[in-house]
Amino acid sequence: MTFDLIVIGAGPGGYVASIRAAQLGLKVACIEKESLPGGTCLRVGCIPSKALLESSEKYVDLVNGLEEHGIEVGDVRLNLHKMMQRKERIVETLSMGVNGLLRKNKVKYFHGTARLEGPGKVLVTGASGKTAIEANRIILATGSRPTFLPGVEPDGQRIGTSNEALGYEEVPPRLIVIGAGYIGMELGSVWNRLGSEVTVLEYLDRILPGMDFDLSEAALKIFEKQGMKFNLGCRVTGARTEGEEVIVECKGQNPVKADRVLLAVGRKANTEGLNLSGAGIEMNERGQIEVDDHFQTSAENVYAIGDLIRGPMLAHKAEEEGIACVEQFVNGYGHVNYNAIPGIVYTHPEIASVGKTEEQLREERVTYNKGEFPFSANGRARALGSTEGKVKILADRKTDRILGVHIIGPRAGDLIAEAAIAIEFSASAEDLARSIHAHPTLAEAVREAALAVDERSIHS
Ligand code: NAD
Repeated sequence: MTFDLIVIGAGPGGYVASIRAAQLGLKVACIEKESLPGGTCLRVGCIPSKALLESSEKYVDLVNGLEEHGIEVGDVRLNLHKMMQRKERIVETLSMGVNGLLRKNKVKYFHGTARLEGPGKVLVTGASGKTAIEANRIILATGSRPTFLPGVEPDGQRIGTSNEALGYEEVPPRLIVIGAGYIGMELGSVWNRLGSEVTVLEYLDRILPGMDFDLSEAALKIFEKQGMKFNLGCRVTGARTEGEEVIVECKGQNPVKADRVLLAVGRKANTEGLNLSGAGIEMNERGQIEVDDHFQTSAENVYAIGDLIRGPMLAHKAEEEGIACVEQFVNGYGHVNYNAIPGIVYTHPEIASVGKTEEQLREERVTYNKGEFPFSANGRARALGSTEGKVKILADRKTDRILGVHIIGPRAGDLIAEAAIAIEFSASAEDLARSIHAHPTLAEAVREAALAVDERSIHS
């Protein structure tokens, strides 16, 4: 079978690239080894974790969040099994939706494992045997999986990764989370809300590395107030199961005990089994595939996108790279603005960021003005009863161009879209400040922060 393009992997990078390529008139094959398309994000990442974050937030609101609204709640009971079933239904529905989209766009879908077999050649091994297919171009989009720590071997029982923590059958009385990154904070929040005593062990002296430090600090205080415990500057060196407990060792500290351990210390590219070295594809020391500005690997006509290559491991980054990659095949150009990729931690409150952090600007010796606005001064946040956090806008001191926007607060993940557009269109803080924002909305806090860049916020 011959195609114009073979895409290996049907995660957000791969299935979006397949659909866009088909829209552009290419004959496309997309290969996926898991039983359902959608990748980590849809099956065991973004989507199931958001389902659990929403459910657990409703639970915790009922338990202790509604009294100030004048709503008295009786006996609240948790049905974890039902919560998990709901999560699984959402995953299944969305995954079937991806299947439908691939079909609608006439992408030929193969369920099997792909291996590069020479220029333009791929062998798919599936339940019904081996199929050899060919194409002018191949895109690798096989994503990533959790990395392990030496001495902390997941056993799928008491010591596990996000894969297990998305489906615990019972609320673990004591949960140790190793790593205070995206996954640690999101899944740590879920189990903290559902009643676990959560302790986060983090190697650095801060949480959420990569986020604006100021926001990380604010988030740490809020998470502590929510009951999570943090041990920063703690390098985990091992974990072992002893009877019903796990003992976690940290360098220079006393061991800590828990019922379950969630290992969340990053992810690594899925490159095994593809025969990359046989195909002449170079990797870097971090195990990622090296690509040029056009996603081209060191092998001719083989491209790579998403978690396999440099840059943040985010579904929307992979999608955008997939689109840019196939558009350049047909149109001759395709572009991703790496400075305008929002990052969101879906805790409560949410934490969202786009563009440069203050630390990056200082390091790059860029002079900037800063405008901040607290949600406590926003009418809608008051009505919601969610007043923690703030919006911070960093704008170039000379040109007023917006360089970075950082938000911790209610619906920060939705509010950041406006900031991403502002950066994409090279807007100034003045542009944002002059745009009319409906009243009363949370988005007014963004406008007020833009006004504050020029020290003329109205409400603070
Ligand atoms: P991460 O890179 O965000 O955080 C890992 C943390 O583990 C870091 O803070 C690191 O310092 C710490 N760590 C490393 N070694 C340690 C040790 N020995 N002891 C203690 N702490 C140690 O990784 P993650 O949370 O596993 O997430 C993986 C990827 O998945 C991230 O790159 C993220 O982009 C993506 N993700 C995104 C979202 C989202 O967009 N909301 C959600 C989940 C995951």
